[in-house]
Amino acid sequence: MFKESARHLGLRKKLVEELRKMGIQDERVLAAIGKIPRHAFIDSIFEEQAYANCAFVIDEEQTISHPYSVAFQTELLELKSDDKVLEIGTGSGYQASVLAEMGVNVYTVERIKSLYTKSRDMLMSLGYALVRTKLGDGFKGWEKYAPFDKIIVTAAAPEIPQNLKDQLAVGGKMVIPVGDETASRTESQQIMLLIEKNEDGSFSETQKGGAAFVPMLKGKELNSRFS
Ligand code: SAH
Repeated sequence: MFKESARHLGLRKKLVEELRKMGIQDERVLAAIGKIPRHAFIDSIFEEQAYANCAFVIDEEQTISHPYSVAFQTELLELKSDDKVLEIGTGSGYQASVLAEMGVNVYTVERIKSLYTKSRDMLMSLGYALVRTKLGDGFKGWEKYAPFDKIIVTAAAPEIPQNLKDQLAVGGKMVIPVGDETASRTESQQIMLLIEKNEDGSFSETQKGGAAFVPMLKGKELNSRFS
């Protein structure tokens, strides 16, 4: 378990101010980041740096995204209370907790079993028990609960998965980093896209700058690579 101290609170406040300076304006996003104990999602050896604005390796060689990426992608979604939001790539569960803290209905899918289990337990212990978690391949989306008002993909996809387009509600928005799998972690070779589904079923696409995410991979992984 993790401990919360006045120091953590202070560091979080500083992080929020930094994000504000970097251009994040949605106060609800900033309030959620200001509230969630990011250090709980990070290996305790990195605890000191938990509130630095950078990405970290979690288990299974995956990463917890940059606070700026989390804030930026979340802001692009223009969340409304009661939105149904699908996240692909639960990872540590940090992004899911930011969404849950903002009062939306969260559905999150992770392909690696150990991360799915750990993040599910973490979300539960932080009081985000209403977040629905699934072990599965995000390329398939989550048909059972579709359509979603918003979709956030936190791994770099080779292209926009058709199932996710199909599962987006009309008038809905999806944010997704797209780029060659082999180019992952290489800034500028991935592009953050904002996709909107129009009334006639067509899609509008806006580029929102470069991105650096781990690759979105097909299939599930049931065994840890490290045990
Ligand atoms: N949102 C996470 C960070 C994600 S890192 C957080 O807040 O911590 C990207 C995650 O996407 C990894 O955990 C990786 O295993 C997962 N992933 C990659 N491809 C996927 C797929 N097809 N379906 C579901 N999850 C996937």
